[in-house]
Amino acid sequence: MPTYVYRCTTCGDTEQVFPMSRKPESVTCPDCRGTAVSAFTSPHLGAGSGSVFAAVDATKRTADEPPLVSRIPSSQRRAQPVSRDPRHAKLPRA
Ligand SMILES: [Zn+2]
Repeated sequence: MPTYVYRCTTCGDTEQVFPMSRKPESVTCPDCRGTAVSAFTSPHLGAGSGSVFAAVDATKRTADEPPLVSRIPSSQRRAQPVSRDPRHAKLPRA
């Protein structure tokens, strides 16, 4: 069954599981017993593995928390000779 997010104005979000056909528009907040209304989020369908959700969360996190680097990546790459034939070294270079 999908997990739905309900939002309480005082306590924040809470997740509840309902069948799709019986999803109520509001539930009782488990913390303050107030009314938590359904938040407009996509339901978490199925039993996704933890690594999948971790990858999704990491991808979403890059939107507002991009990973930082401590130094500029080195642009110096060792030139790898493509050919070992000495005649090729004499060819004109572009
Ligand atoms: Zn509450």
